Amino acid sequence: MESKIAETFEELGLSPIMMRALAKLGYERPSPIQSRVIPWALEGYDLIGQARTGTGKTASFAIPILEQLDPLRVCPSPQALVLVPTRELAAQVHGEFVKLADGCPTEILEVAGGKHLDRQTRKLREGVQVVVGTPGRVIDHIQRGSLDLRRLWCVVLDEADRMLDIGFRPDIERILRRCPENRQTLLLSATLAAEVKELANRYLFEPVHIDCSNKDISVETIEQRYLTVAPEKKLETLLALLERERPPQTIIFCRTKLGTAKLHNQLERQLHRYPDLKHLRLATIHGNMNQSQRDAVFKQLREGSIQILVATDVVGRGIDVSTISHIINWDLPDDCSDYVHRVGRTGRMGREGIAFSFVAKGQGQMLTEIEHKINRLLVLDPLSENHATMSREVITPTVIRDEVEIGSAPESFGLVAHGATKKPRLNRMRRSLSDRERRR
Ligand code: AMP
Repeated sequence: MESKIAETFEELGLSPIMMRALAKLGYERPSPIQSRVIPWALEGYDLIGQARTGTGKTASFAIPILEQLDPLRVCPSPQALVLVPTRELAAQVHGEFVKLADGCPTEILEVAGGKHLDRQTRKLREGVQVVVGTPGRVIDHIQRGSLDLRRLWCVVLDEADRMLDIGFRPDIERILRRCPENRQTLLLSATLAAEVKELANRYLFEPVHIDCSNKDISVETIEQRYLTVAPEKKLETLLALLERERPPQTIIFCRTKLGTAKLHNQLERQLHRYPDLKHLRLATIHGNMNQSQRDAVFKQLREGSIQILVATDVVGRGIDVSTISHIINWDLPDDCSDYVHRVGRTGRMGREGIAFSFVAKGQGQMLTEIEHKINRLLVLDPLSENHATMSREVITPTVIRDEVEIGSAPESFGLVAHGATKKPRLNRMRRSLSDRERRR
């Protein structure tokens, strides 16, 4: 089968209005996931795209959806539904849609929990074209009768693995069963765990498989180090690290809410004692904060008015703030895939980033697991207590990350496009450019 890979946005045959929006955003060329997903998505195929955040995956589904929307006056009920695991990701995906829809009147609604249900209901009644939401809140609207799924032609399951991890499977299935059968379904996932494959087998129709998991792992471009210090020296070492690095923007990850609050307080008390650090603005974010508090912190982070954010894994996934230069793992995460997600908050879209992890005594095995996961050794930072004397047994990781395949082996570009069949039942085959342009 022909590999559809477009190296430029021009090759994708996008509308002039979309080309203008892309230029305004400064997107010069499609990212690897966009080059591969957009051509198939525009043609109406179901698709499984394996890619992490920070690779431009949102635009890979937002562009084809926006390009094919009917105007609101033609279709006032939702045409596309994007399901995401967290409120933060809903806000971020919604934001990306809005930016890409620049210059074109498009109604895109975020329906995440923690936001006003009544306002969402009113907007849904007035008419929207795209709904971006968390499964729980989407179900609420379906049950209240405010969300009409009958005219839906595209469903996106974004970060499907994460949605399944946090127990959204029953909600997702309930939603999918209510969607029109001849819809297009796009599933994006960082990993293709058995549960994700099972969901895809059940609800996708002969999907194209696009594997950008190796090509786009953003952590590959990130320098990664670790520090070993005694617990009583940890805070002092962190401050020395901040002094040395003078990071433009850092996220410090802690494992628990309590630990996050404690470290935030300690830093608040200490920073002003260090001439090079006292100007830094500090904030914290964790699961106990309500949505508007969290939104306010993210806004400040994006605007650059916060330089250090002490956080739990609430922000470890999905959130995209492209100015984060440093990640510090104050505690190692319980799960090594969370390490990848935390570290991936920096080095967005090929920018430079550096990550430091504090490794406590007895956590050597965890460090090794992380190294296997990322297929690379972390470097011991000189601020480590025992830097001069330490000789850690070097275990060369042997794990090759090509492990996930469906069907035949991936091609050299990471594209697995085999056995895909264009849906014969689709009534919305790719519309001609002039057609789409006329409607916009
Ligand atoms: P995502 O993986 O969707 O979270 O995207 C990560 C970041 O890359 C976001 O800030 C996007 O706005 C940005 N982005 C997406 N596509 C492109 C592109 N083609 N060129 C430059 N930046 C992009």
